[in-house]
Amino acid sequence: MSRIRRPSGSTRRSPTVSWSVWIRLLTADCVSRSLERVAVPATIHCDHLIEARATGSSDLLASRAENGEIYDFLRRAAAKYGLGFWGPGAGIIHQVVLETYAFPGAMILGTDSHTPNAGGLGACAVGVGGADAVEVLAGLPWELRYPRRIAVVLTGELDGWTSPKDVILHVAGVLGVAGGTHAIVEYIGPGARTISATGKATITNMGAELGATTSIFSADARMLTYLRATDRAALAEVVADALDLLAPDPAVEANPDSYYDRVIRLDLSTLEPHINGPHSPDRAQKISAMKRADVGAPDAISTALIGSCTNSSYQDMSRAADVAAQALAHGLRAVVPLLVSPGSERVRATIARDGQLELLEKIGATVLASACGPCIGQWRRTDGGAPNTIVTSFNRNFPGRNDGSTATRNMIASPEIVTALALAGRLSFDPRVDTLIGADGIPFVLTPPARAPEVPAQSFVRADAYYQAPGLSSDPLTLDPASERLQALSPWPAWDGRDLVEAPILMKTSGKTTTDHISPAGPWLKYRGHLDKFSDNFLSGATNAFTGEVGVGISALARRYQAAGVRWIVVGDHNYGEGSSREHAALSPRWLGGAAVIARSFARIHESNLKKQGLLALTFVDPRDYDRLGARDRVSLIGLSGMSPGAPIAGVIHHADGTRAPLALAHSYTASQIAWFRAGSALNLC
Ligand code: SF4
Repeated sequence: MSRIRRPSGSTRRSPTVSWSVWIRLLTADCVSRSLERVAVPATIHCDHLIEARATGSSDLLASRAENGEIYDFLRRAAAKYGLGFWGPGAGIIHQVVLETYAFPGAMILGTDSHTPNAGGLGACAVGVGGADAVEVLAGLPWELRYPRRIAVVLTGELDGWTSPKDVILHVAGVLGVAGGTHAIVEYIGPGARTISATGKATITNMGAELGATTSIFSADARMLTYLRATDRAALAEVVADALDLLAPDPAVEANPDSYYDRVIRLDLSTLEPHINGPHSPDRAQKISAMKRADVGAPDAISTALIGSCTNSSYQDMSRAADVAAQALAHGLRAVVPLLVSPGSERVRATIARDGQLELLEKIGATVLASACGPCIGQWRRTDGGAPNTIVTSFNRNFPGRNDGSTATRNMIASPEIVTALALAGRLSFDPRVDTLIGADGIPFVLTPPARAPEVPAQSFVRADAYYQAPGLSSDPLTLDPASERLQALSPWPAWDGRDLVEAPILMKTSGKTTTDHISPAGPWLKYRGHLDKFSDNFLSGATNAFTGEVGVGISALARRYQAAGVRWIVVGDHNYGEGSSREHAALSPRWLGGAAVIARSFARIHESNLKKQGLLALTFVDPRDYDRLGARDRVSLIGLSGMSPGAPIAGVIHHADGTRAPLALAHSYTASQIAWFRAGSALNLC
């Protein structure tokens, strides 16, 4: 891919940043002194702060009123430093990037774990922490552990009820939530070329659920179709000229086992629709198994939700609308609330123009704002709390993610399957064989949705009104010191050069500890620009291995230690910090006086985030040592001044009964990353 010539004016490395990045940029004094504009093309997107309450238009108005301080700050920051700015209502970052910036051969970084969505259009797109993005914006190099290579060889063709979503739901079941860690997942084979660009994006988007560094499809004619439909015909011609260079090497496709570390083969023609969950996206189940299996979720569905950055393409919405049209023909409507989150204003306005939205609304759907909404917990739900099942076409289903309630079971499926389930109201409904009763009392079986157009016959409606092009404003970028939403930070202090002695264990987490558990979102998102307030949620979603409780009083305890001058550690289980790239999961422990996180293993982005903030991210040499640590034990880390790449770190457990035991710890710090630790953070070195 690197051999393609760069189209004039196109993106070479194009970070897309969340607004939290800018708070740090302000305070990185080395940056604010010297940076006049960002070193690479970059954009800011406002998609996480619009709460689903009633309808898209009224929710957007409410968000503008309540979050105006944030939006205004971001708009001014973009204008000052030369970034593009997509205001609230423009859409979800990944859909906007796919429509506007991604192209085969692009290298894209984004401060969100689902940045690999752009891999559906042949971009190498990687989700990173905010500190990584800030460094790239400042012109510093970006580093990454050299990834393993996993191939998913696709043959055959999707048909009937099966969709691209089912490809990734199946692959998630094969690889699991950590199976893609430190790997690039590449989809090759003739089946890959039968999938639309947006269908490919659904698959690469959810590669984040495997812990993969990124996922990617090679350039093909389907991508050219999408580029042309999104007003990039000239770019499409450049890609078309180089298609032979961008396509997979035939020798590689013929013999992938010789080139990849792992090969997964999948015949699309035999793939069955899946419903994954609850509580983890890799709990893969064929739809036919839902009748038989105890899936751990009530059969009665409480709410159905389609859309999000993962599944709101023109093709997706057309297939969902096909199901809606069939229901209307039989006089039926959804029997449970059906919420639609368009991925972007371009998609929303286009499916409003072309009739898909009207069909969905006629069966009772509520169209929310073109924003993350319930996918990230921005859902003012009034009927939650008790154990209940929701079905979504989202990508992530960790407990508490959607409505803040761990009693809610989120089952993930394609938009067309979710729409069909909304008509039946039952999780065990299999639209391929089960009957619905029409308004005339006559049973009928839905027919599989027709093959839908990949792009509209006319071009997409434009959404230029939501975009502010990069400028260079001379206005000062100031913060109100009394603000409860934005807080200026000072650089973290450098390491004091001393070993860590008898640090208490703030919390030992048990089982799945995602960044959603470490730094829950939902109502907390409004404080994302105010680290002190936001840190009150630290570890409030994680399960305490000592008590079995979920995150009770952890941040308050951390503040007590901090006030007493005591540095503390967190002990984590396997794949600690999986999920979202949420940098706050590393910023909060730094802010609250933490020194180290010792885990059985880490998810890639979170481990990097901890390192960047000057914390120690260590792993047990023997994962069974996790079990040796008790609630009142303390841990010392010895010889930190001699820390070096590849060398273990000596720890000591000080048991509560006064005995001591050695604790062997490993780390993955490079020499430059050790320098970050010594300096107090990576940014302190720029
Ligand atoms: Fe996509 Fe949901 Fe993340 Fe928003 S919160 S970017 S919709 S995965």
